[in-house]
Amino acid sequence: MSASSLHVALAGNPNCGKTTLFNLITGQNGYVGNWPGVTVEKKEAKLSRDKSVTITDLPGIYSLSPYSPEERVSRDYLMSGEPDVVIDVIDATNLERNLYLALQVVETGLPVVIALNMADLVEKNGDKIDTRALSKRMGAPVVLISALKNTGIDELIAEAKRAAASKDRVPEHKFDSAIEDVLEKIEALLPSSVAAGKRRYYAVKLFERDRDAAKLVNLTKEGAATVERLVKQCEQDCDDDAESIITGERYAVIAHIMDECVKKAPAKMSVSEKIDRVVTNRILGLPIFLVVMFAVYFIATSSGAIGTAGTDWVNDNLFGEGFELFGMSFPSIPGAIEGLLTAGGASPLVSSLVLDGIVAGVGAVLGFIPQMFVLFVLLSFLEDCGYMARVAFVMDRVFRRFGLSGKSFIPMLVSTGCGVPGVLATKTIENEKDRRMTVMTTTFIPCGAKLPIIALLMGALVGDAEAPWISPLFYFLGVVAVIVSGIMLKKTKLFAGRPTPFVMELPSYHFPSLKSWWLHVWERVSAYIKKAFTIIFASTIVVWFLSNFGVYDGAFGFLPDMAGIPEEFTDYSVLAMLGGAIAFIFAPLGFDSWQATAMSITGLVAKENVVATASSLLHIADGTETDPNLWTAFAGMFPTVGAIAAFGAFNLLCAPCFAAMGTIRAQMQSGKWTAIAIGYECAFAWVVGLMINQFYLAATGVFSVWTVVAVIFAALILFQLFRPMPKDAWKDDEAFAAAAA
Ligand code: GDP
Ligand code: MG
Repeated sequence: MSASSLHVALAGNPNCGKTTLFNLITGQNGYVGNWPGVTVEKKEAKLSRDKSVTITDLPGIYSLSPYSPEERVSRDYLMSGEPDVVIDVIDATNLERNLYLALQVVETGLPVVIALNMADLVEKNGDKIDTRALSKRMGAPVVLISALKNTGIDELIAEAKRAAASKDRVPEHKFDSAIEDVLEKIEALLPSSVAAGKRRYYAVKLFERDRDAAKLVNLTKEGAATVERLVKQCEQDCDDDAESIITGERYAVIAHIMDECVKKAPAKMSVSEKIDRVVTNRILGLPIFLVVMFAVYFIATSSGAIGTAGTDWVNDNLFGEGFELFGMSFPSIPGAIEGLLTAGGASPLVSSLVLDGIVAGVGAVLGFIPQMFVLFVLLSFLEDCGYMARVAFVMDRVFRRFGLSGKSFIPMLVSTGCGVPGVLATKTIENEKDRRMTVMTTTFIPCGAKLPIIALLMGALVGDAEAPWISPLFYFLGVVAVIVSGIMLKKTKLFAGRPTPFVMELPSYHFPSLKSWWLHVWERVSAYIKKAFTIIFASTIVVWFLSNFGVYDGAFGFLPDMAGIPEEFTDYSVLAMLGGAIAFIFAPLGFDSWQATAMSITGLVAKENVVATASSLLHIADGTETDPNLWTAFAGMFPTVGAIAAFGAFNLLCAPCFAAMGTIRAQMQSGKWTAIAIGYECAFAWVVGLMINQFYLAATGVFSVWTVVAVIFAALILFQLFRPMPKDAWKDDEAFAAAAA
């Protein structure tokens, strides 16, 4: 280690405030979330005040015995030799629980500084923590800080620098003497290559039968046998397994520390606890959540509400009639661009590309941003203040009944913004099968980009794109699709197994810091703006080209310019040919027009494209999801209302956009599993669409062979839903667990 480069690692339990601290001292804008698993990869940045110091934010973990990917990431990094000092961040309002990891971090023999975070809350609760005694017990400096209120930070950094300069230390705390004897004997067996400061750590790991650690220390065969004998003997003496013995010892140490160092204020129920009594109540929890989500979507998307007012203003003025401001009148954006194009003498081809293609497509997306902004302001608030963590807890009770884990709910929650971070959030699910299943189903939840599709559908179905019950309805349909899929998949060999246990800290409620609140909103909104000017910009050009060029009267060319072509020139376009060629797939769903097929295809690039494509193919200039002309033209493509609903179901449930599919690929790390995931989503969407359309037709007295197919699918789904869990479904799992033990 040279003075010019110092590596500081931030370790700690999920939700203890590591990222808040990291952002504060590095000036970064990492994602601060109020639930575990938000930081799933380590992040690095320089200390703002001293660029020679590198800070690494590690994923939150409960233990250094790696059970989950983030525990592995954290431990591997700590033991890599790179960090010169570890700042162990502790949520001081949850000291007892957090010390479990802190003890292990101290045991690594690395220089450690303990940051007792959330000092503001400790003070508010009236608890007293004797930091000097704690420091002595832990064998590491302890600094009381508040990452949120920015107190104690200078001292923390100073302590970290001081600690880094000191030599490897040996932890202070001791286990029961019988255990210490065994650990000493194991230490003696370690090869001399293991540094003095790390010997006890590895002795403990070998005692715990940690295979990774055993590999790292390169024990001789005889050595390993001796260790095993010692551990076995100790297990017999204590009548417990090795891992539990160490866990028990650690908790005994913690109990001592708590006794000596903490004076709890007389127990009175905190405000958070009072709120939680209601909000996480067995009976009230779920209805409250439904009401809250309804309110969120209502405020963001219903007519007259604030988000919609913004979107309407943008659509009516910026992209509609033009507007007046300070007594001056301005043309709309398309109007202004059209003026420029005419003045510049642009050819019809260029005008068409710019106005019908780019402006219409990108504009349709941008117009939607005010609504999305309001939606994200509300969702981010719920997330930051601590409510969403409660929801995950409440949902766990619901999910568990179906053999699913509440852990699957967090990705779904994130997916309401965008499927990409939603799929990423599945990383915290330890159980491989549960994780894959969640990756497969989480994008059923409508993301922000699907809201315009929903609005368009509702305009076409009920003549009001902003009826207040609409968006929440589709949101809950998404949840139902996830639950139904979960139940069905769980009963197959591919996904059988016990649901991952769900443990999480419920952080105290607090008013979010405006900065992190704004960052969340901006992170999500800016992603849309970026998409509008990149992927959507590019795809509108492609779609424009495909729909404006084609073959008429035996010649290929720019259709609007061709002699004698009817007004509906897109019927002769390349897109019409492509869409027409595969439209048969959707015929049983009731929409075999090439336009509807083309919309579904462009939706795979980005869901925002669906409305933009509709507006462009149906020749509704600057048509947005709130434009009644577009509703009428859109509805005109379908023979029945059932077909419109089927189209909606298919487009909302089928494979997500390119970006999300790419993320699924990265998470699955397997082409086969990616294909299974995307294939399942598309098939499920198709079957749901089929059932909607065919049952609608049947209700109106129209039957065909597809009616039979739809009934068979419905029967299969019901069978899979309601048959009992196959007896042997969990057997593999248990056999595996037994073999591993
Ligand atoms: P991480 O999971 O350890 O990275 O934790 P985060 O940095 O994401 O923080 C979790 C939650 O705790 C966020 O809602 C923070 O605003 C909040 N938080 C962090 N530090 C403090 C603090 O010092 N005081 C209070 N009251 N809240 C804090
Ligand atoms: Mg974090």
